[in-house]
Amino acid sequence: MTMKPKSLQEWQTDLHQTAREKGWHNDENTVWKMLGNIHAEVSEAWEEARRPDFDVNAIRYREKDGKPEGFSTELADIVIRCFDTAGALGINLEEVIALKAEFNKSRPFRHGNKRA
Ligand SMILES: [Mg+2]
Repeated sequence: MTMKPKSLQEWQTDLHQTAREKGWHNDENTVWKMLGNIHAEVSEAWEEARRPDFDVNAIRYREKDGKPEGFSTELADIVIRCFDTAGALGINLEEVIALKAEFNKSRPFRHGNKRA
C-alpha cells in the first residue's frame, strides 16, 4: 500500500476528523479528559515495555479483529491523541512543534544538568 506523505497539519486534520467520526467528541470534551486519554496511551506503552518479551518493533495482531498491538503502536497512539487534542482545541501543532524545537536547540545541556 503506497500512501501520499502528509504534512503534520494534514495529519492533525485527518486524525481529528477520524476521532470525531468515531465518536470521541460527541460529549463534552474538556482539556483534562483529552490529557487523560494521552496519559492512558503513555501507560499502555509503559505496560508494553514491561512485557517479558518486550521488543520495541514487535507488532502483534489481535486474533479477534486484527488490531495491531505493541510498544510502537502505543507510541503512535500517543501522537494520534496529541494531534486529535490539538485539532479539537484549534491549535496548529505543526507551528508549535517548529517553535518549540527551535527553542530547544538553545537550551543548556540536560536543561541545567537535570538527572532525567
Ligand atoms: Mg493504545
